[in-house]
Amino acid sequence: MKQERAVLCGSFFIMTEIYKTKGIILKQQPFGEQDRIIFAATPSYGKIKIISKNGFRRSAGAFGLFDAFAELEFILERGRNFDRCSEVSLSKSYSAISSDYFSSVAASYFCEAVCWSVPFFGGNDRSYFLLCRLFDALERGEGIALIPSGLYFIMKNSGHAPFTSACCECGSDEGLEFFSPSEGLVCGKCVSESCVYIGPEASLLIKAIPFVKTGELAEAFNKNVFIVAENALRKSFEFVFDRPILSSEFLKSADAV
Ligand SMILES: [Zn+2]
Repeated sequence: MKQERAVLCGSFFIMTEIYKTKGIILKQQPFGEQDRIIFAATPSYGKIKIISKNGFRRSAGAFGLFDAFAELEFILERGRNFDRCSEVSLSKSYSAISSDYFSSVAASYFCEAVCWSVPFFGGNDRSYFLLCRLFDALERGEGIALIPSGLYFIMKNSGHAPFTSACCECGSDEGLEFFSPSEGLVCGKCVSESCVYIGPEASLLIKAIPFVKTGELAEAFNKNVFIVAENALRKSFEFVFDRPILSSEFLKSADAV
């Protein structure tokens, strides 16, 4: 929904664009003494940057809405640097994620990855719906098996998935035990200094991710294999986007509980 509104600016009227959108908060940072800058993923506008003002803070229950995992509905006014929000309401809450430590760390991990991989106003709605599906899966209680798959598909949506169907150097299907952060799976014959050893099982898992449901992967591999695969895919993410995924640190401690 879009509409234009005339706003008095000095002695001129300027037209501003008002729009309404659903969104999931990816990241927040303080701005001044009372405000926050909020990065949100949206179904039609890619990633947007929102700044709060009084009405926003009131309708958000002094930020209470932003601290839970939820799909929110915003009414926004387009700005040069930030969009201003006049109203925010709850569209769908993910209460099972918010009440479970592992799930909330995993959800933060996915939000962080989407935040760095989706451009501002990129219009990539697939990342938004993927994030909703990942939240649904966490809400159902899917565990560590979801993490490498989720990260792989977040990268794929941004057009930066590593090569996982065979050795990225020679195309061989044999002896895939290494991973190159800049390319993908590598066989023993093509291994170079930049590769990490991940072993045959994690290679097989990474190869299966695009084709096999997470539930089936969870039955076929043990927890350590998912941890190795997550580590390899995260190195690839960090290589492409030049950003660490900080929540991964908490993931390790969360899953140990
Ligand atoms: Zn090779």
